[in-house]
Amino acid sequence: MVKWYEQGVCPNNKWEIFNGSKLQLIVRGPRKMRIAEFIWNKISQPRHRFIIWLAVQGRLLTKDRLRRMTISMDNTSCSLCDAQIVETQKHLFSNCVWTRGIITEMSQWSGMLIPTGDVKQVLEKIKRENWKQLKKEITAALWASVVYHVWQARNWKLYRGAKMTIGTTVT
Ligand SMILES: [Zn+2]
Repeated sequence: MVKWYEQGVCPNNKWEIFNGSKLQLIVRGPRKMRIAEFIWNKISQPRHRFIIWLAVQGRLLTKDRLRRMTISMDNTSCSLCDAQIVETQKHLFSNCVWTRGIITEMSQWSGMLIPTGDVKQVLEKIKRENWKQLKKEITAALWASVVYHVWQARNWKLYRGAKMTIGTTVT
């Protein structure tokens, strides 16, 4: 921490190099780190934790990432909806109408409000909510399960070409 302060640079190269005041560095650095407790929380299933951890780092192999890796594809559109929008991680987990439907159903079923945003923003918003720690962990675990099952559904549809509707059970 002292080293970051002196150098004005976060040690993880995925983090922004922060040119603002040193005070802001201190405030912003740890806030980013603290969502780790919601990724690796005790409630989430290990496979859910692993997928959300990859998603937070932007490491899931979405079609836009595959294309940037010069892997040719017939179609780069989202596999889960009919919007003909390029499948980015942000679309898949935040904007996709299919995913929004899953989030709404999950919120209604659990009675827990899952915040909106990309994978990381949702965890950051849960962190900032004025909730008891257990409620934060349950909500984070719900979000991890949404991310996991959306990713499973996307893979299932992409590789098996199956038509999916909201309510389809994904195993
Ligand atoms: Zn979509």
